[in-house]
Amino acid sequence: MTNRTWTPDSWRHKPVKYMPEDYPDAQALAHTEAELSRLPPLVFAEETRRLRSRLARVAEGKAILLQGGDCAESFKEFTTDNIRDTYRLLLQMAMVLTFAGGRPVVKVGRIAGQFAKPRSSPTETVDGVTLPSYRGDIINGMEFDAQARTPDPRRLLKAYHQSSATLNLLRAFAQRGYEELSEPHRWPQGGINRLLADRILESLSFMNALGVSPEPRHGANAVDFFTSHEALLLNVEQAMTRAEPDGSGWYDTSAHMLWIGERTRQLDGGHVEFMRGIQNPIGIKCGPTMEPDEVLRLMDVLNPQGIPGRITLIGRFGADQVAERLPRLMAATRRDGRPVIWSIDPMHGNTHKAGNGYKTRSFDRILTEVCGFMDAAAAEGVHPGGLHLEMTGQNVTECLGGPQPVTEDDLCSRYHTHCDPRLNADQALQLAFLVAESMPS
Ligand code: PEP
Ligand code: MN
Repeated sequence: MTNRTWTPDSWRHKPVKYMPEDYPDAQALAHTEAELSRLPPLVFAEETRRLRSRLARVAEGKAILLQGGDCAESFKEFTTDNIRDTYRLLLQMAMVLTFAGGRPVVKVGRIAGQFAKPRSSPTETVDGVTLPSYRGDIINGMEFDAQARTPDPRRLLKAYHQSSATLNLLRAFAQRGYEELSEPHRWPQGGINRLLADRILESLSFMNALGVSPEPRHGANAVDFFTSHEALLLNVEQAMTRAEPDGSGWYDTSAHMLWIGERTRQLDGGHVEFMRGIQNPIGIKCGPTMEPDEVLRLMDVLNPQGIPGRITLIGRFGADQVAERLPRLMAATRRDGRPVIWSIDPMHGNTHKAGNGYKTRSFDRILTEVCGFMDAAAAEGVHPGGLHLEMTGQNVTECLGGPQPVTEDDLCSRYHTHCDPRLNADQALQLAFLVAESMPS
């Protein structure tokens, strides 16, 4: 099965789930794919290799991975403020985690390409009318009318250009280094451990004065910031995949890191087939049905040589199931011996419908899953390497609870997500502080 020659399009011979099949004009789609394949890369192989070497340090237990951003980026919420605020929040959280754990934090955004969503139902019915589900702005529109819900290939190009502009901003922010974090008023006021925050600010100004950068990169003061998204639309990923001229292999240039979603991780499926041939670091979501044997077989296909930094396993079990399901997976990878990063996504197993119909998540359950993850890691002798969050720097009301508690009645006031509910800035920062306090140093 997996010994067949890999090509960027070999996934097309395998069963593929959750990709749209209802483009009205197949030729227009093919033209767009061809156009994408001629456009410049969004990220570069050298950067992707750098991320892999940073992640290798995480796998060794010497660094921490922080991955976060929107559930789904959208065309409407695409503003400088949104990007800057989420970026800054990730940096603040990274600072908190570094300070507490004494380890560098590898910062990876769910950003600059995180558009496509696998939906649990292909259709949605409202008042007796049934239409295709919204699948992310890169495929169709959120408005509930037949035209908006029809997949449109022009959206693929729009998403590419938005990702490119997003990366342009991120690269500019990253060039500025950590200076803006030294301004206390730029930190969210809720969810903060004042004592720890003050110590961080003091340290930052001390480092600034010395001209020292918190980054492990020598000679430059820029922040190392990487991008990631779920590799769901394989036609797009294929179009963005390019061979390095030096013969070092194929890189998917749509993002530094890509992950395989919980719904598309079938061993014999197209998604696993595509991912095995690219050199990028890969995440694999591991939900409650994942068995130890399955994880090992996925590693046989995706990382047979055990390249450090190649695989990040992202658990997403739910607060109730993490203690039961995670330890044996950790035990299996520990016995296997090939390096992996264990990360936790405490969002996707903890979604529920509020009394008033909003899809939400409670801060307490999110925290409980993270704590369950840390406990399991401690018991199994595994490094609790990463945190994977849906979050935004905006002051939204999408998840319940937190330092300035969001109630069910508050949900309607600033519920802006295009898919799943995100932690707001206060909630995300508080989570970082709470994780930091319970981190083994
Ligand atoms: C996601 O990360 O937005 C997602 C759909 O996650 P999962 O594949 O774990 O359900
Ligand atoms: Mn999501």
